[in-house]
Amino acid sequence: MNVLVIGGAGYIGSHMVKLLGRRGCDVTTLDNLSNGHRDAILFGSFVEGDVADRFLLAQLLETGNFDAVMHFASFIQVGESMKHPAKYYENNVSNTLNLLGAMLTANVKRFIFSSTAATFGSPQYTPMDEMHPQNPINPYGRSKLMIEKVLDDYDRAYGLRSVCLRYFNAAGADPDGELGERHNPETHLIPLVLQTASGLRSDIEVFGRDYDTPDGTCVRDYIHINDLCEAHWLALQSLMRGAGSQRYNLGNGNGFSVQEVIDAAKRVTGRSIAIRDAPRRDGDPARLVADSTLARRQLGWEPKITDLETIVRHAWRWEQSRAKPN
Ligand code: UDP
Repeated sequence: MNVLVIGGAGYIGSHMVKLLGRRGCDVTTLDNLSNGHRDAILFGSFVEGDVADRFLLAQLLETGNFDAVMHFASFIQVGESMKHPAKYYENNVSNTLNLLGAMLTANVKRFIFSSTAATFGSPQYTPMDEMHPQNPINPYGRSKLMIEKVLDDYDRAYGLRSVCLRYFNAAGADPDGELGERHNPETHLIPLVLQTASGLRSDIEVFGRDYDTPDGTCVRDYIHINDLCEAHWLALQSLMRGAGSQRYNLGNGNGFSVQEVIDAAKRVTGRSIAIRDAPRRDGDPARLVADSTLARRQLGWEPKITDLETIVRHAWRWEQSRAKPN
């Protein structure tokens, strides 16, 4: 199988490239290295470039003979999307439209799209299945939902088959220790907690302790990066078999609170972690947990690394391999 991975140098994309390479696929990564890292691409060939570059996309897709495209290159920070919506609509929407246009011209008609729990907005019930209404409350979530809608229309009109995978909280790192999370700036809870344990940060802020949850801190569904990539693999197989377009919510179905994550990190690292209580972060619902029954039933997907300590342990091994404490 021959797969084009857009954003294959980033956190999730690089783990996906490794999985595809290990399973014998031909992989080409297109990445502009704005957030990704060249040394994170462990398999296949690499093209440095931007999804905004229509000429490059056309050339790549028309000569690459790809069976499918996976698209990981997007901006992902909710807070930033509130301040700079244009950045989000230009990259996450407009550039994705470029990509889809180039795919149609080149007659490449299988697409796997990184979507998000943020397309749902405030939860009306949890765990959230695919029937949950989609009312995003920030430009990030809206930008992803727009592409989901475009994909519905492109399926009907042009026969472009797509799988949209709505991630809850991607977490952890490659169990072999070769890859992990390297965002700059880092905003995600687990790497921030571990950077505090390793001495790179003085403390971890807990955004709100007055939520309606057992310990008052927010509950999220942390899904191991390998399990996430496995879902993409199964989605790819289903498209290759000729299955129709589909949307799946991906999570463990287990929620863990911010405090539980910090406690797990203390156990895993054996270090003290200073906590600073801070106000709630705008737009954070109390509880976000996925119901992934559909992915389990239709794709045969079964998350394997569901234990929080193991997720944190893999992230810690990665963090230690690159940390330079003060
Ligand atoms: N969080 C926190 N302190 C931080 C970063 C995150 O308390 O420094 C909380 C955040 O409010 C949320 C959870 O940790 O409830 C997960 O946040 P993250 O940014 O990792 O992922 P998101 O849920 O925004 O996708």
